[in-house]
Amino acid sequence: MLDLKSMDLEEMTSLMKELGEPAFRAKQVFQWLHRGVTSFEEMTNLSKALREKLAETCFITAPQVERKQTSRVDGTVKYLWRLRDGNCVETVLMCYHHGNTVCISSQVGCRMGCAFCASTIGGKVRDLTPAEMLDQVLFTQLDSGKAISNIVLMGIGEPLDNFDTVIRFLELVNHPEGLNIGMRHISLSTCGLVERIDKLAELRLQLTLSVSLHAPDDETRSRIMPANKGVGVDKLFACCRRYFEVTGRRISYEYIMIDGVNDTDWQADLLAKHLKGTPGHVNLIPLNEVAESPLKPSTRVREFQKRLEEQGVTVTVRRKLGGDIDASCGQLRRKRMKEAE
Ligand code: SAH
Repeated sequence: MLDLKSMDLEEMTSLMKELGEPAFRAKQVFQWLHRGVTSFEEMTNLSKALREKLAETCFITAPQVERKQTSRVDGTVKYLWRLRDGNCVETVLMCYHHGNTVCISSQVGCRMGCAFCASTIGGKVRDLTPAEMLDQVLFTQLDSGKAISNIVLMGIGEPLDNFDTVIRFLELVNHPEGLNIGMRHISLSTCGLVERIDKLAELRLQLTLSVSLHAPDDETRSRIMPANKGVGVDKLFACCRRYFEVTGRRISYEYIMIDGVNDTDWQADLLAKHLKGTPGHVNLIPLNEVAESPLKPSTRVREFQKRLEEQGVTVTVRRKLGGDIDASCGQLRRKRMKEAE
């Protein structure tokens, strides 16, 4: 069976040709799928014969809401979706003044092993498909009744570890016949896979790249982020500079503030030093505590911010949304896994 929604318009056009149909049918099918229909019967401008042919050869993905939590504090909604094979992934909907943002997952689990992150605890189960990534946007929009204007790839998984799928997803979600969400409204967050960042730069997409830095020195970074081993902070910053030169897009550096681990003055100074000559800004993130981890949130966020600012670094402190609903990376999926144990 073919995963129709993961196809781009060209692939769908070839399929229609194979089925002996005119090319414009592909556009009609593409439009239906990107509106979130879940059956071929709903595609009312196609002939019954074509609908039947499609149903025999293709399937339409449609995740089920396994769990849904709405924050009483700020209205943030967290979805746990059940996929075709029973695996679950999370999506978070955040409503800001400037629009509605979804935070989507790119893999079931993650193999990057970051010490502070709930998504990686059971390792990576599998990559998501382009359709499964798109569905998180489509079905969040349908379920909530809120039009999505921004997307962040910051949920479960390492997007650049599922590179081709993520690129296909970006093409699909950006497509004028589909949701048509502009690249400048999309952010991709990575733990810093340098070869993949270079590969992404070549595509010159206008999306925002966020690099999860979390420490400016190799000793600390390799300890909390195994992906740093064998690469190192210097190579990562060199790669970020290349990215800026090629794409003209400033990078945003994510920095979770962890008590006694990465929140000292010397680390602020080293971070400022690295950022000299690398345009970009730092986003300080209060650590969300994960049940399985001994790491605690830092109490020095303001001091750290001030020290960076004094050295000319642009810093923002992330507002914490959804704190009452396990809205941080992989926490809800993790909770369900534990309940099932
Ligand atoms: N793998 C990608 C995207 C997923 S993580 C990446 O590493 O960027 C998305 C963001 O959530 C990252 O900045 C990550 O470091 C952060 N994050 C993970 N666990 C967290 C926690 N317990 N508290 C706060 N932020 C967390």
